[in-house]
Amino acid sequence: MRFDIITIFPDIFNGFAEQALIARAQKKKIVSINLHSLRDWTADAHKTVDDRPYGGGAGMVMMVEPIMKAVKDIKKKGAGSKSRVVIFSPKGKKFTQATARRYAKLDQLILISGRYEGIDERVAEYIADEEISIGDYVLFGGEVPAMVVIEAVTRLLPGAVGKLESLKDETFNSAVKNTIAGKQQFEFIEYPHYTRPDIIEINGKKRQVPKVLLSGDHKKIEEWRKRHSTWRARKI
Ligand code: SAM
Repeated sequence: MRFDIITIFPDIFNGFAEQALIARAQKKKIVSINLHSLRDWTADAHKTVDDRPYGGGAGMVMMVEPIMKAVKDIKKKGAGSKSRVVIFSPKGKKFTQATARRYAKLDQLILISGRYEGIDERVAEYIADEEISIGDYVLFGGEVPAMVVIEAVTRLLPGAVGKLESLKDETFNSAVKNTIAGKQQFEFIEYPHYTRPDIIEINGKKRQVPKVLLSGDHKKIEEWRKRHSTWRARKI
């Protein structure tokens, strides 16, 4: 799967793309992360990507034209593939594990990261396929949201996570269950994890790992994990 990120700050991604499992997924050719500097699609000497807002007010707005040209060119790189164009905005549809699962079926995901006061609304209306928010707060830009989406999607791709097993019982896996109110969507919340040492002093008190996890009794451990996992009704 290829990710194409359109940004005015491509360097923000350097450490992110070069470390740990994301780097490994690229090396194994599970994903490719392609950074595009929006200024490459400008025509003037100053490489302008923003302008003052119509109607006045503070801040600058990212212009349609460079983004439109960038998307057109970048779409060709994933030619013939299943591709989506996503624009980031705090008012967009909330990104969830279900969105990540949907994106994991694509061949190309083009991510448009905004800055300043945001992006000319016509990009969301006529160029992007969807407008996505990573949560109800306002960030400086859409670069961190792009990293969030890339990580969440990449780890769902076969071979990206060490053992496929580790995705099996994971938080936010969902299921439809019958309830007295009818069919309802639930999501799984995974049990807590512990590792060595089994006892540690925290703020003057000895804190111990649940004994059953040290017992070696797989059946009891399984039961404990089941009891400490929950299926939470999904809010829509
Ligand atoms: N003026 C905008 C508002 O009040 O909604 C905020 C613009 S924000 C400073 C600049 C850019 O950061 C946005 O265009 C978007 O790309 C990105 N951004 C900020 N918060 C975000 C969030 N929660 N989810 C997704 N993108 C976000």
